[in-house]
Amino acid sequence: MYTTLQFARDEAKKYGVEAQFVLEPALSSFEIRRTDGHLVIAAPCDLELLYGVYECAEQFGGYTFFAPGHDHFDERLKVNPCTSNLPDGTLLPARPPRLKRRGFIQEFPFNSETPMLFDWMAKNKLNYLLVWMKYYDELSDALKQAAALRGIEIESGHHNFDYWIPGKTYGKTHPEFFAEINGKRITPSGNAELLLSEQLCTTNPELRAEIARRMLEYCDTHPEVHTISLVPNDGFGWCECENCSKFYDKNEKGDFYSLSEHVYKADRIYHDMVRDIAARVNRVRPDIQITLVAYVNYCAPSPGFTLNAGMAVHFAPYWRCINHEINDMHCPINSHYADDLRQWCKAKRGGEVNVYEYYMGVNFYLSLPMIHFHEMFHELQWYHDIGVDGILTQFHLPHWTVYGLNYYLMAKAARGADEATAINDILRRLFGPDAGEAKAFYNNIKQLLLTMGNCHIPYPDSLFRRTTPADYQRLLAQAQGLAAKAPADRFRQELVIWMDYLCRFKTLFDRIHASQATTEDVRQLLEWIHTHRATRIFVHERFDLYFQGIQEALRTGRKWLHFNIDWEDEYIRRHAEMLK
Ligand SMILES: [Zn+2]
Ligand SMILES: [Zn+2]
Repeated sequence: MYTTLQFARDEAKKYGVEAQFVLEPALSSFEIRRTDGHLVIAAPCDLELLYGVYECAEQFGGYTFFAPGHDHFDERLKVNPCTSNLPDGTLLPARPPRLKRRGFIQEFPFNSETPMLFDWMAKNKLNYLLVWMKYYDELSDALKQAAALRGIEIESGHHNFDYWIPGKTYGKTHPEFFAEINGKRITPSGNAELLLSEQLCTTNPELRAEIARRMLEYCDTHPEVHTISLVPNDGFGWCECENCSKFYDKNEKGDFYSLSEHVYKADRIYHDMVRDIAARVNRVRPDIQITLVAYVNYCAPSPGFTLNAGMAVHFAPYWRCINHEINDMHCPINSHYADDLRQWCKAKRGGEVNVYEYYMGVNFYLSLPMIHFHEMFHELQWYHDIGVDGILTQFHLPHWTVYGLNYYLMAKAARGADEATAINDILRRLFGPDAGEAKAFYNNIKQLLLTMGNCHIPYPDSLFRRTTPADYQRLLAQAQGLAAKAPADRFRQELVIWMDYLCRFKTLFDRIHASQATTEDVRQLLEWIHTHRATRIFVHERFDLYFQGIQEALRTGRKWLHFNIDWEDEYIRRHAEMLK
C-alpha cells in the first residue's frame, strides 16, 4: 500500500525539496533544520513530514500554493537555505497548531475538482472535511484513499435525520417515528429536496434505538469513517406529541441574533436525543465521534448538557456580523455568539468544539466582498484561548478569486502563523512589486464595509443599501490600475471583472429600488455573469437560483429584500432598523 511517508518522499522530489526525514515523536509539529549543511525535516509523524515538505517548497523552493490545481512558481522566490555561510541550526522551529482541526464544509457533491481540493488542503495543512452523507455515498474508493494519504479526515454527516430514518421507507413501516403536528403525524414527503421542517418524534425510545442501530451498522460498513453526525433536517418544527412537548416551552422563544425569535427554543429536545444516541453508539464503539450542530434555535448548550468523549459540536455563527470580530463585545450580534461559544467550551467533558464558519459571507452573499484577513488571525487566536478545537468554513472553488485569500489565510492562522508575516507574504507572492498597491486595494474594500454602517450581516441588501455606485467605480479603477501593470496576470484580470460585477449589481439594485428595473434587466446581468464561466469569481448555480428569486419578486410586486422567505425578510427589515 502507498503510504503517506512514500507520498511525502515523492512530493519532495516533485518540488525539488532535498531533505532528510527524521521522525521525532515528541515534536509538536514538523521542524526544519540545517545539519552539516543539509536540510532536515524532523516531524512527529508522517503527515507532519508531508507538511514539512510543502512548507519547504513554499519557503525555499519558489512555490506558492494559493490556487487549487495551480502550483504558482516564481524563480525569484527561490532561496537555498544550505549554500550560504550560515551556521547549522533550526530554520523553522516546531510550533503547535493554533487549532487541532482545520478544514472545509462542502455543501455540494464531489466532482471533477475534488482531487485538486484534497491536494490544496494538504498543501495548506488542512485536515478535516465535513460533507453530507448523501455526497459521501458517491465518493470513490480511490478518492477516499487520496484523502487518507493526505491526512484528511472526512466527516460523513450534516443535516441527516432523513438519512438515518428515510421518510420513504420508515413513513410506511413506522409512522410513529415522525413528528406529530396539530394532533396528526406528518406524512413524510420522501423528497430529499423539500425536507425543510420535516422532523422526527425524537423522544420515541424505539426511534432512538433504531438510529443508534443504523449508525453502528453504517460504521461497520464504512470502517474508514470515524465521525458521523446527528443533525436535524434543515428548518424548524419539532414534534408536538405529549412526550416531546415536555422538552420545550412554546412560549420560550429563540433570539434575535440567531434568527430564531419567531420560533421556540429546541435546545433541550435536541440535546436530550443527542446525549442518548451518542451514549448508545459510544458504548459499543467508543472510537466513533458523533457531532451535533449549534445554531438558530439550539445555539447554546441546554442546562446540564455536556460534551462527553465521543461527541463534538459544530457551532455556526449563522448570519454573524462581518464588520466586527466574533468576540467584540460592542457588536449586538456577535457578542451573543461569543457568549454561546464560551458556554460550549465550558460544557466540554472530553468532547470537542468546532466553529462552523462562512468566510465567504454566507449562503447567497453572491461574491460580494468579505475581507477578513486580520480578523481571522484574531478570532482563531481567541478560539484557541477559550478552548475551541477546530475551525471549518463553507467554501467553493469557483469563487476562489473573491474569497481564496480568506481560505488561504485561515489555513495559515489555524496552524499558528504570524499575522503580519502571513498577510504581507501572500500579497508579495501574488502581486510582486505591486504588493503595496494590492494591499491598499483590499484595505479600501474593507474600509468601504466598515464605514457604511456599524454592523454588516452579509447579504446583498445590507451592502448595497448603504453604499453608492461611485464607491464601486473607484474600486474598479483601482483594480484596473493593478491589472494594467501586469496584463498577463489572470488573477488581476479577474479582480477587474469582480469589481465590474459589483458596479453592475449595485446599478441593478438601485434601479429595482427606484422601480425602474424589469425582469429583462435581471436576466441581462445574469447572462453577463455567465459569460465568465472560465473565471473563478462566481458560483453560477447560486446566481441562477438567486436571480430567479429577484425576477419572481419583480413579477409579483413583492419587495425584494433577499430570497423571498418571509421570516428572513423580517429579520432583514429589523437589521436595517437596529444595526444602523
Ligand atoms: Zn414526539
Ligand atoms: Zn457588528
